[in-house]
Formats: sequence, structure tokens, C-alpha cells
Amino acid sequence: MIIVILGAQGSGKGTVGVKVAEELGLVHISTGDIFRENIKNETELGKEANTYILAGNLVPDELTNRILMDRLSREDVLEKGAMIDGYPRTEKQCYDLDAMLANIDRKVDLAINLDVDYDELISRITTRRVCKSCKEGYNTEYNPPKVEGVCDKCGGPVVQRDDDKEDAVRQRLDIYYANAEVVLNHYAKDGKLRVEKAGDKIGRTSKEVTADLIRDLK
Ligand code: ADP
Ligand code: ZN
Repeated sequence: MIIVILGAQGSGKGTVGVKVAEELGLVHISTGDIFRENIKNETELGKEANTYILAGNLVPDELTNRILMDRLSREDVLEKGAMIDGYPRTEKQCYDLDAMLANIDRKVDLAINLDVDYDELISRITTRRVCKSCKEGYNTEYNPPKVEGVCDKCGGPVVQRDDDKEDAVRQRLDIYYANAEVVLNHYAKDGKLRVEKAGDKIGRTSKEVTADLIRDLK
């Protein structure tokens, strides 16, 4: 099974996607994580991608498609299927993904959209933190590490992502909303879209969304 998980920055799609993928035995593929891994290891690809990422812009398709196709071509994806997070983000990427999957004789079976209110997204992203070493996620408001700046799990440094500063966040959300409708429609028109509303305002947490998805998809 191939699932794409859609939703704005801060919608919780990262957390939900990892958990659901784990429960369903799917390989979790995040384009953002692959870029960050390359930036950390100072690869050529990482250096190039980082100029776009720091400005809150999308990385050009040529580069992004290359890293995604590489990842999709590995044996584990064919064996287990995948949960794809962070792709597609534009209409063109929807078609590119269809083509990439056709290459490995697969297709998108389900698209999940996590729908969260704009104001809530801004506050969630600017308060989120991540462990630099093990990638565990935290939030200064409702899920801080026990010791400030130190990861509970591995003792690594808990930091804010450079692109989680408010200006870059607004820039990314603008880009997200400019493209969201066509991306959602791409899957809705084939009856593959499942919308999950979440957020404090409607009293539905990411945990509940995760539990519902696992119950329905397992
Ligand atoms: P966010 O969704 O908060 O932007 P991600 O971790 O998904 O964070 O991605 C980080 C950055 O990597 C993005 O801001 C963008 O620059 C780049 N990126 C990730 N996925 C894509 C994609 N599908 N197309 C273009 N750029 C991407
Ligand atoms: Zn850690």
C-alpha cells in the first residue's frame, strides 16, 4: 500500500505519519528528512537544497524528484509499501509522483489530509522543537523536554529548526495554501482522499486522528 499524507506545516502530519506507518508496517519517507540528512552530512545535494530551504522556498523539482525516486526504488518500499510525507506539494508533483510510482508498478492508494486551522498552525510551528540527534519532536508549550534543551530520549540537543522561525513559516504556509487545493483535488477526483480535521478548536488531537487511522487501515 502507498499512502501520501498531506497537510500544512504544523498540522501534525509528521507525527501522525510516523506512527501510522509504524503500525501498518509501511516505510516512512519524508522528503524534508532526506534533505535535512543531506544538509547534516554536507553533501552536494544538501548544500544546494539548503539555499532554498532556509528561505522557506520549495526545492526545485529536478532535485526533489531525484531524491524521492532514489528512495522509492529501494527494495523495502516494494516489499512493505510506503507512507510518503512532504510530497506532492504542487500539481506537477502529483503527476510526477504518479509517474514515479508507475515506474515501480505501484500507485497511490490513499491520500490523507490533516486539516488544521491557520492560527493554530502558526502557533504550533513556532513553538515546536526537535532533537538534533534522534529527531524526537517536542513543543515548548505542551510537550517540553524534562530538562530545557535536552532530549529525554537520547540526551541530544533540543533545538528549533532554522526554517521554523516565524517569517519562513508564513512563507511556507503561503506556498502550501497556494497549491493545496489542486493537490487535494488530484486525489479527491479519484475518490482517494480522506480528510481528517484536527486541532484544539474542535477538540480533536493528533493522537485521536492517529488512533482512528490505525483502527480503520490496519
Ligand atoms: P515543512 O513541511 O515544514 O516545510 P519539511 O520537513 O516537509 O518541512 O520540508 C522542509 C523543506 O524541504 C521545505 O520547506 C522545502 O524547502 C523542502 N521540501 C520538502 N519536500 C519538498 C517537495 N516535495 N518539493 C519541494 N521542496 C520540498
Ligand atoms: Zn534525542
